[in-house]
Amino acid sequence: MLTIAVSKGRIYEDALPLLAEAGIVPTDDPKTCRKLILATTRPDVQLVIIRATDVPTFVEYGAADLGIAGKDVLIEHGAESLYEPLDLNIACCRLMTAAHKDAPPLSGRIRVATKYVKIAQNYFASQGIQAEIIKLYGSMELAPLVGLADCIVDLVDTGNTLKANDLEPRELIMNISSRLVVNKAAMKMKHEAISALLTQFEKTLANR
Ligand code: AMP
Repeated sequence: MLTIAVSKGRIYEDALPLLAEAGIVPTDDPKTCRKLILATTRPDVQLVIIRATDVPTFVEYGAADLGIAGKDVLIEHGAESLYEPLDLNIACCRLMTAAHKDAPPLSGRIRVATKYVKIAQNYFASQGIQAEIIKLYGSMELAPLVGLADCIVDLVDTGNTLKANDLEPRELIMNISSRLVVNKAAMKMKHEAISALLTQFEKTLANR
């Protein structure tokens, strides 16, 4: 049995067609079904649909053999203990700084709200900017509006969320896409099954 941990939401939706090309179609819809382990049309493959930030942990400990997670989450987790054989090129977006549209360019010591504490620390250090990082778990866009922070670090796709909150994107930190990650022990123990799956994904991606 192969267990694949997939980040809920946007990444899961974007991963479905890719999984389907490999014959992996969940037999239940996680939106309507309360099961945490989803069987699929392939009897040797099951899915666990979990919070994005938990995917590297499940794969690292071997609770899942494979995982699909954003590069943002993998970098923040520090996923050196995982193999990352494939860029799946799905759920593409940008990790950016953003500030109020009327705010002057950032200077001096600034406060930054984000869930990406490590990435933000490294980024501002690399820019020579003194930044106090405030960890939030959601609704980052609120922080500059209520005076909690001068700017945020968050994912931007269309930019609509920023715009709706009078914020604007400022600096690009990195381009993000979802990656396939593999548990190192599973790569050895289940080599045949995992490499067959990798080959299938590679084929699908090459044809896109
Ligand atoms: P948008 O309004 O299209 O720029 O999307 C921004 C909102 O969606 C922010 O709350 C982001 O954290 C979230 N978001 C954007 N792209 C992604 C992605 N690829 N994966 C997860 N969340 C995302």
